[in-house]
Amino acid sequence: MTDVAPSAPVHEHSRTGLSADALRRGIVDHLRYSIGRPAAALRPEHYYRALALAVRDRMQDNRVVSTQTSLDLGRKVTCYLSAEFLMGPQLGANLLNLQIESAARAALAELGQDLDEVLACEEEPGLGNGGLGRLAACYLDSLATLERPAIGYGIRYEFGIFDQEIHDGWQVEKTDNWLDAGNPWEIAKPDVSYLVYWGGYAEHYVDDAGHDRVRWVPGRVLKGVAYDTPIQGYGVKTCNVLTLWSARAVKSFALDAFNTGDYYRAVEDEVNSETVTKVLYPNDEPEAGKRLRLLQQYFFVSCSLQHVLHILDDLADVSVHELPDRFALQLNDTHPSIGVAELMRLLVDERGLGWDEAWAITVASFGYTNHTLLPEALETWPLPMFGESLPRHLEIIYEINRRFLDEVRAAFPGDEDRVRRMSLIGEDNGKSVRMAHLATVGSHAINGVAALHSELLKASVLKDFYELWPERFSNKTNGVTPRRFLALSNPGLRDLLDETVGQGWLTDLTKLRGLEAYADDATFRARWRAVKRANKARLADYVHATTGVELNPDWLFDIQVKRIHEYKRQHLNVLHIITLYHRLKQNPGLAISPRAFIFGGKAAPGYFLAKRIIKLINAVADTVNTDPAVNQYIKVAFVPNFNVQNAQLIYPAADLSEQISTAGKEASGTGNMKFMLNGALTIGTLDGANVEMRDEVGAENFFLFGLTEADVTRVKAQGYRPADYITTNDELAAVLGLIELGQFSGGDTEVLRPIVDSLRNSDPFLVLADYAEYVACQDRVSAVWRDTDAWTRMSILNSARSGKFSSDRAITEYCDDIWGVGRVSVRD
Ligand SMILES: *Cc1c(COP(=O)(O)O)cnc(C)c1O
Repeated sequence: MTDVAPSAPVHEHSRTGLSADALRRGIVDHLRYSIGRPAAALRPEHYYRALALAVRDRMQDNRVVSTQTSLDLGRKVTCYLSAEFLMGPQLGANLLNLQIESAARAALAELGQDLDEVLACEEEPGLGNGGLGRLAACYLDSLATLERPAIGYGIRYEFGIFDQEIHDGWQVEKTDNWLDAGNPWEIAKPDVSYLVYWGGYAEHYVDDAGHDRVRWVPGRVLKGVAYDTPIQGYGVKTCNVLTLWSARAVKSFALDAFNTGDYYRAVEDEVNSETVTKVLYPNDEPEAGKRLRLLQQYFFVSCSLQHVLHILDDLADVSVHELPDRFALQLNDTHPSIGVAELMRLLVDERGLGWDEAWAITVASFGYTNHTLLPEALETWPLPMFGESLPRHLEIIYEINRRFLDEVRAAFPGDEDRVRRMSLIGEDNGKSVRMAHLATVGSHAINGVAALHSELLKASVLKDFYELWPERFSNKTNGVTPRRFLALSNPGLRDLLDETVGQGWLTDLTKLRGLEAYADDATFRARWRAVKRANKARLADYVHATTGVELNPDWLFDIQVKRIHEYKRQHLNVLHIITLYHRLKQNPGLAISPRAFIFGGKAAPGYFLAKRIIKLINAVADTVNTDPAVNQYIKVAFVPNFNVQNAQLIYPAADLSEQISTAGKEASGTGNMKFMLNGALTIGTLDGANVEMRDEVGAENFFLFGLTEADVTRVKAQGYRPADYITTNDELAAVLGLIELGQFSGGDTEVLRPIVDSLRNSDPFLVLADYAEYVACQDRVSAVWRDTDAWTRMSILNSARSGKFSSDRAITEYCDDIWGVGRVSVRD
């Protein structure tokens, strides 16, 4: 202080200042002190790291004030427990939220660097499979932006979702080494660490005061270490945190005496312990018997709950009974649901609380979000394996169950069938622990993720629970963050929106309604089209670079990107493409409006049919793209390695969004919303949030087709026969025949046969039942596309009426109805 001359220019600190000059100094400091390379050896990735660290400094400063403010005010905090957080690249989003993009651009320019080139250096953390993990990331963005104190808790997987390559049309999985280059966003907190037990047995004893107590004698002990990533809100000081746990060996824990001194055994243990957080499991794959997966879940939940209790202990004059007043614990699907039994264990065994008071705290603290109705996706653990792994938790679950089933019997006397259905222990094909039941019984609030899904939950998988506790059930329709999925990924539209409706849409997406007034304005429509055209050209460049396929940005871009799954029905989309191919072959020169069909998505490595569907898409692509009679009208591209980074190029470039799941199977979807925000029209079924999107935009601006959920149930109950749909539809018969005869596989009649066989023999997702209506609907799409003004009008109205699908709306509902978490304004 004293050595600054009075005449020296007052300038901002290099770690906190938001001006271009302060940022430049921050970058230069990090290049020197954190990167430590000679100037001549500096490459864009070093500038990326230095800028990321400089940005982190600024967030860290906000983070300190945020934590202090909520602690000082004693405000309630949301803890969002999720096995997945699909965060996507961080630098661009953080610059946006701190509102320092142009400052960063200018700072780098002074150093001879280009911001876009530097942004491209980031390797995204792929710590999620798809929608569920991305939802958690959108919710963190909204929580911070809405100034709600929150902690995201999850797993720091060393290898996230695999990188997908396409070789000869097949998916090939490559390990994701996202940490190889280091992760500038996280701060390791080796002192924030907890022990996690596993295996062994539960020992019952009487303590000195004569009370019955239980002590867990573990077979194995490991340690979780916290890594914190700051989560900056948009345009506010609030900076929350994502805490991810990484597994370590416990070096000094002597399990049994004869191991002492066995150095090599100890090192081996260390290696084993660290495998716990090595790899993210794919979803869409049966996980029966995957003990390591249960360990992962228990590991991160135990660390998180111990951390929460620790924070509570550190607060003066706050007892553990106040846990539900200070923290809302949200279970993102059943993956963290072991938390119900773990919190009971911590309260009863470790803190000596009575069962009833511990149970009251537990139920008042937890909320449970269900994400699926698919029976095969509802988690259960085989009882023997569960008991060997978590012996004390099994006892606790039995006790929860005993008391719970008494309550059921009291409410429904004599209904033993209901008791059996509701039990936490399943009896069919071997005993198992039903995690959805545990989550439901242990939570005061249970919600589905779209209106239809929440209704189906109450009518099907959780019907009995709804009848017992109707007041616990609600709907919270998913949402997506307009910061990342509009402002950041569609800068052309961002500028047009700012100019047309003002900047308020970034934090109040319903402001997009202001666009409606321009839907019939010819000048505005032309500008709207120009933005879309530029986004399509940008995507076409990317597709060309990654697949070699050349797409014409003037064609209709028809896009389906999401995990590859039979229920999402990418194969229905392909049947339409083959229909057009067949029509063109039958009738050369047929005037059809030219379309580019774009796919992207990963298949679970063990999901046989999903991998064949990728092969089918690529086989059709190869055939179509190289046939001069066809490729003037249709082209097909499969974008490899769909992730958040390329999603940001894809959603803004769509004219048509494919949301064609079998009705009743997609809980909500969020991809559907990202497309809508960016002005795509949707072709879709009445499934998930599509229903609400159509309500918002108006039936006349949505391409609806297909069976409803009620139809699907009825058709299945009547004994669905796919053959009936083939014999009555020549076009469908011809299309299936082309695949079977090897038309797309160089005469090979085997490679794609499993897909056709599955459709002919069982067709579990009613692809053939919806085919005719889908194709007819696509013909209507083509007709509307030819009327450019009509299409543009519909496109504008889709954006204009997408406001409901902001994650800010969703998070406000969670905070108000479930969590009781209020706004905490943070100031310096
Ligand atoms: C939004 C998103 C998803 C979810 O897409 P759905 O169409 O809702 O299944 C999956 N992966 C990524 C990378 C996403 O951004």
